[in-house]
Amino acid sequence: MSDVLLDVRGLEAGYGNSRVLFGIDLEVPAAGVTALLGANGAGKTTTLRALCGLVRRHGRVTFAGKRIDTLATENIVRLGVAHVPDGRGTFAGLSTEENLHMGACTRTDKAGVREDFERLYEYFPRLKERRHQQAGTLSGGEQQMLAIARALMLRPRLLLMDEPSFGLAPNVVQDIFRIMRRVRDEQRVAILLVEQNAGLALDLADTAYLLETGRIVLHGPAAAVRNNEAVHAAYLGGD
Ligand code: ATP
Repeated sequence: MSDVLLDVRGLEAGYGNSRVLFGIDLEVPAAGVTALLGANGAGKTTTLRALCGLVRRHGRVTFAGKRIDTLATENIVRLGVAHVPDGRGTFAGLSTEENLHMGACTRTDKAGVREDFERLYEYFPRLKERRHQQAGTLSGGEQQMLAIARALMLRPRLLLMDEPSFGLAPNVVQDIFRIMRRVRDEQRVAILLVEQNAGLALDLADTAYLLETGRIVLHGPAAAVRNNEAVHAAYLGGD
């Protein structure tokens, strides 16, 4: 069993007067993939935003033994938490390469940054081909790859990924999940993956949590969650 890297207790969050999360508990081990599943509007994106301080939150969040629930986003990033947001959030007017440099802007180990450029271009050869192209003109799949690669340029200990399959053709989604599998197996990074595509996420994940209207209603090893009858019927198109 790996150590717990991220420990979340009683996390609450919302927007204005409307509450979205009603006291979430979850644990992310220091390696592997933890999936956070749920229907539209369950609060998955809000959970990731709350963890990195982008929405007002309450509760106890510990990362690598340190409380982060009162820290500003930039300080959470500096501790090694990278966020691949929904909508990707690449800098449209900058080139692929400049976007990757932005991902490494808090790092001072120049040799390590150079190494990571090479490694990421090996994972994502399409990005190498398009390294001088403006990010805003990349295809949706290429932009998703760039968002993941930019987050990895931080050399994070924890990667928060929001719906990497969103709006992409099935073959592009397959490509991206194949690369994520390599990242999982080859990099020292834990991944908290938000996905509506439960089948894909459960293939990649070791552990999964199911969120319904702001509450965790089920969690366990990915195989057990996959075999859960309710999950099968509601999220895996089971019969
Ligand atoms: P989806 O898979 O559709 O993205 P989700 O599980 O990620 O759904 P959230 O995006 O976290 O869900 O949204 C949870 C609830 O919070 C929804 O009811 C949504 O309308 C509301 N919400 C999200 N962002 C805001 C915002 N900026 N202001 C007000 N309400 C918001």
